[in-house]
Amino acid sequence: MSNLVVLRRRDALREKVREWKQQGFSVGLVPTMGALHEGHLSLVAKALQETDRVVATLFINPKQFNSAADLAAYPRTEDDDAAMLKAAGAHCLYVPDGDQIYPPGFATNISVSGVSEGLCGAFRPGHFDGVATIVAKLFLQSEADKAFFGEKDFQQLQVVRRMAQDLDIAVQIFGCPTVREADGLAMSSRNRRLSAKERAMAAVLPETLFAASNAIEAGESIPAVLHAARDKILAGGFKSVEYLELRDAATLTPITDELVRPARLLVAGFLGAVRLIDNVQVTPN
Ligand code: AMP
Repeated sequence: MSNLVVLRRRDALREKVREWKQQGFSVGLVPTMGALHEGHLSLVAKALQETDRVVATLFINPKQFNSAADLAAYPRTEDDDAAMLKAAGAHCLYVPDGDQIYPPGFATNISVSGVSEGLCGAFRPGHFDGVATIVAKLFLQSEADKAFFGEKDFQQLQVVRRMAQDLDIAVQIFGCPTVREADGLAMSSRNRRLSAKERAMAAVLPETLFAASNAIEAGESIPAVLHAARDKILAGGFKSVEYLELRDAATLTPITDELVRPARLLVAGFLGAVRLIDNVQVTPN
């Protein structure tokens, strides 16, 4: 249990972080959109191992939503989030007021090409611009030494790495493993929007991904495995599969023929009205 300070203004955050740095403490940043679960708390735990003071942020970033309905439906649970962060040992929760992120006249957009193309980038136009812009702002506002992101959002992690490197932002980025429910479903704030029946069906997604990863690692034909996996997810109750692709784990370039480098198998699909994403590693022998 920590003394959690809740801050809503950029200057107050800067002052707090500078005070810590003057005391010789390193600072870790865990950006979130709230509705926290064990997946987020695993990032806080890693940040506590790697740094002396941990700042979690909560900002539901309108610029990274491409549907007004999705933004409106996003869960908002600040009090519960603060209680969980306090219990987890975080030192600060930064919940910026809207004008602290997007002041009147705000006109800058950070757009990362390459890694943001295809996959979620193809189905959510503008999404990764929104992510890159807010994360750059949070890096610059916090002046954190290290920042922690989940592999659950694997493409986002690569976009953030590229952006920080390209803009010379001196923050060290850590990718943390996906935390899953007992049946394998990746924890997500969106899971709470699944009906009981949908929730029971959702495990077909990770089951299929892990099985497909094993089959590709065993040398089976990549296109045949991907085709069968897509059918299995649809037969398991998903309304649609937006993409199911094998990509190079570092550059995210497509792999269609032979597995020679570490890869990632990534999927997005709709179960009822809820869009779920997941990914697993695929390692060549
Ligand atoms: P979000 O609040 O969904 O924007 O996520 C905030 C951070 O938590 C991102 O870096 C996510 O990748 C990470 N995250 C979300 N779900 C999980 C999970 N199940 N396991 C690990 N990290 C996660």
